[in-house]
Amino acid sequence: MHDVLQREREIFDLGLTWRHRFSELGPAFYTPLSPMAVRDPYWVARSQSMARELGLEEDWWRSQAALEAFSGSRPLAGSMPLATVYSGHQFGVWAGQLGDGRAILLGEVEAPDGRSIELQFKGSGLTPYSRMGDGRAVLRSSIREFLCSEAMHALGIPTTRALCVTGSDQPVRRETIETAAVVTRTAPSFIRFGHFEHFSHGKHPDELRVLTDYVIDRFYPECRHAANPAAALLAAVTSRTASLLADWQAIGFCHGVMNTDNMSILGLTIDYGPFQFMDGFDPNHICNHSDTSGRYAYKRQPQVAYWNLFALGQALLPLIGEPEDAMAALEPYKALFPAELDQRMAAKLGFAQASEGTRSLVGEILALMATERTDYSIFWRRWARHVAGEPADVVRELFLDHGAIDRCLLQFRELATYEGRHPYDGSLALASSPSIVLRNHLAEQAIALANQKDFSMVQQLLQVLGKPFEEHAEYATWAGFPPDWASSIQISCSS
Ligand code: AMP
Ligand code: MG
Repeated sequence: MHDVLQREREIFDLGLTWRHRFSELGPAFYTPLSPMAVRDPYWVARSQSMARELGLEEDWWRSQAALEAFSGSRPLAGSMPLATVYSGHQFGVWAGQLGDGRAILLGEVEAPDGRSIELQFKGSGLTPYSRMGDGRAVLRSSIREFLCSEAMHALGIPTTRALCVTGSDQPVRRETIETAAVVTRTAPSFIRFGHFEHFSHGKHPDELRVLTDYVIDRFYPECRHAANPAAALLAAVTSRTASLLADWQAIGFCHGVMNTDNMSILGLTIDYGPFQFMDGFDPNHICNHSDTSGRYAYKRQPQVAYWNLFALGQALLPLIGEPEDAMAALEPYKALFPAELDQRMAAKLGFAQASEGTRSLVGEILALMATERTDYSIFWRRWARHVAGEPADVVRELFLDHGAIDRCLLQFRELATYEGRHPYDGSLALASSPSIVLRNHLAEQAIALANQKDFSMVQQLLQVLGKPFEEHAEYATWAGFPPDWASSIQISCSS
């Protein structure tokens, strides 16, 4: 009896309602296990916006028990921690079994609006899928993931999110000795293309069917009544992925490690590693220092996404049946992605509709920007400000070749006249190009302070990045040009 009381006292109760539908899939899909405690944890950051979505009280975190729970040292009441198994193609090569090597799914909680949101720790210790790894995540990469996933959400781009980050001075060995951190991530589901590949390549047709049925029933119910539900699922994932890639390309986001195990079946941005929002525009930009061949260069991302969808199609083939049906489900990507991108770029120009004219003008502008390595985010924000009424100088002064940018500005005026009934819209342009993005050098500055236990910049960045389409006069330098040293920042897969 005393033991039971003792254990109850040790459990931290957030007052949430939990469900565990992933665990109901059966033992082939995961290993139950507990997070591993870290020494003397401390808070690094919390997202109030995410906490509100979960329906948590304002002071949900204000206890030693909460801190211990969110660093993996104390069980969360109602959770059923487990690590899932998946496989995947890494850098174009079949890598075999991977799995949650440092992530632990806690279960789903019911949000006040009725949605089910899964909570997952990242960096909370060894799992059966850790392979050569230590099960940990370092502070720098945890801050990057926390800030960027919340920033992407605020930009309106589908993504996993994050509730909080805790840290510990416990050493973690990477290229140098760093310290440990745990990110609490959230998503409707963390299922990846690699989960399907795992059961398909491993010749486990029953599990493949169970997983597919689960994903269809929970997230793509409209596919259930299609003639070929697995093909319909592939088509639906293809459509969401095309839309996601259009979002990434339009905002200038490089993911860095688009392996199939880092592709969400829900079309979310997932697994933030060496990502980067481009500074000077360079279509060939490679943000991952470990990606020596440039497989995941900015301009290749849309093709790589298609390659990954193809791998998903192969994995689903035992359920789809005919290869032609899989190809037919993938085919729309080739039209959907460019159409979605045209739409996003037209909106950045200030036009509600894409047309031959907007496509051509965007092409001219991007070619000029590539030649001059014009800052991608600053250009588009200034363009939007010009469309909203500021003098053209804010745009012109970004270029050496004034003749070339003047021709673009003239083309814009002609287009606006030609479009007639649909003139340009400054507020649409401003709502399509953020005033601030999480550039590498901003993350580096916040991390340098965090390493000294000053988490103020992490919290301030979170606030500002939470309203990316507003102007933030007091943070003008953060919205400005990157310093010279930004171009020498090297971010690798090491995290
Ligand atoms: P990533 O490149 O971060 O997507 O990781 C690829 C695979 O390696 C996944 O199975 C991860 O869980 C695993 N992994 C990455 N880092 C670690 C680590 N430090 N400890 C254990 N597993 C890891
Ligand atoms: Mg990963």
